[in-house]
Amino acid sequence: MKKTSTKSLIAILVSLTLFSNSPARSVPTEESLPDIGTTAASTLSTNQEIEMGDFYIRKIRAEAPLIYDPLLTQYINKLGQKLVNHADAVKTPFHFYIVNNPNINAYAFFGGNVVLHSALFRYSRNESELASVMAHEISHVTQRHLARMMEDTQRKAPLAWAGTLGSILLLMANPQAGMAALSGTLAGFSQGMISFTRENEQEADRIGMRILSRAGFDPYGMPSFMQTLSEQTLHNSEIPEILYTHPLPDNRLADARNRANQYPKKSIPESQEYLLARVRILTIESTLESAYINDLLNQYSHGTSKEQIAASYGRTLLLTKKRKYTEAREVLTPLLNKQPDNIWFIDAMTDIDIGQARYEQAIIRLQQALQKHKNNPVLQINLANVYIEAKQYPKASQLLFQYTFSHPDNLTGWSLMAEAASKQGKRNEELAAYAETMALQGQFDLAINYLSQASALVKLNSYDQARYDARIDQLRKLQQRYSQYKK
Ligand SMILES: [Zn+2]
Repeated sequence: MKKTSTKSLIAILVSLTLFSNSPARSVPTEESLPDIGTTAASTLSTNQEIEMGDFYIRKIRAEAPLIYDPLLTQYINKLGQKLVNHADAVKTPFHFYIVNNPNINAYAFFGGNVVLHSALFRYSRNESELASVMAHEISHVTQRHLARMMEDTQRKAPLAWAGTLGSILLLMANPQAGMAALSGTLAGFSQGMISFTRENEQEADRIGMRILSRAGFDPYGMPSFMQTLSEQTLHNSEIPEILYTHPLPDNRLADARNRANQYPKKSIPESQEYLLARVRILTIESTLESAYINDLLNQYSHGTSKEQIAASYGRTLLLTKKRKYTEAREVLTPLLNKQPDNIWFIDAMTDIDIGQARYEQAIIRLQQALQKHKNNPVLQINLANVYIEAKQYPKASQLLFQYTFSHPDNLTGWSLMAEAASKQGKRNEELAAYAETMALQGQFDLAINYLSQASALVKLNSYDQARYDARIDQLRKLQQRYSQYKK
């Protein structure tokens, strides 16, 4: 393994969790909700939790290299939900995000938001390993480990405490943040409050493994990924970031192995989607040296039939990236012929079509696919994109209007909306869509400014003006409420 730097991170806390007001159910099993007493529960309400989560996600959008790729977003959220569906004591919706970051790390924080670093795709070898990390994080949240930590340390100033943790999270998410900033932030921290306790880790492993198994994954995914982390520690001077916050003493690995042994053996079919996601994230989003990608694709091309498919898919992506569209089409066509409904392949062919200006072909394929996969966000974004490339701007706007209505938190949707409006010279619509991209990144002043400009451009007392003005009011209120979380 190639080391990326000799930077060594100081311990940092990572999983922030929920402090719900709802009464703890008494469940007479070993998985009873932890008794966190009344202090933590009364200091931060569930609403504050969810709002803080939203506040920090906006900051992460603005400051960290979040991956917006619709396919990867859909994949990681489907996988996450599959796990959450098999967890107990789920109090809020979960959202999963991928940050393009070469350090192995994952953290759950306020309001069920789970952030995964792209390096997890490089170092995991199958879907069960990746899912084991996610199940562990989900368990920290459902077991309210942070609430317990907070009880122990900072019962007097929960907002300040949570705010400091939030800013550490932001620094961790951003690979460019650098050690100086991180050390400065950590200076006021005592070691005890920035990593989980041994007991918390054991519990997250134990409950996480049960979720893993219930959701149909291989419980062995957990010890085998821990093994990878442990090998990283042996062979590198740089310890994987995740171990600073989730310590891995020898007995944790041994315990996970023993526990996995107690589960009935079953053979888990290889996940085609995981292989496609892995190849996609490593070829498209990362800045990895091409030798690594080529080695991986070469290895897959001699592997199982699913790995061979992933290898061809990866070659298609690389060729498309190099604008070798004819060759890319040659590699992809047999895959698409065999699996005409496969959204990964449809998406890849759309890019090739756009590259070769075969817009009509792409539009027809996407429209047909949308009849089968109604309202699929990946296909919708692809189609909107082709409409724009084909200069069919009104059609793009119409589709994006629906899309942003159902996916108001999707930055890509609003960006395309602004682009389509701009091409039609609809300055007010462009400004209003652009305002949403700013609001999603926590830039409320800018967003309000753009909406005011939009409002001034349209007819007095028109429907559009009322809409823009109402949105300005909403954002002002949001800005005011969120000002309590700003440090
Ligand atoms: Zn942990």
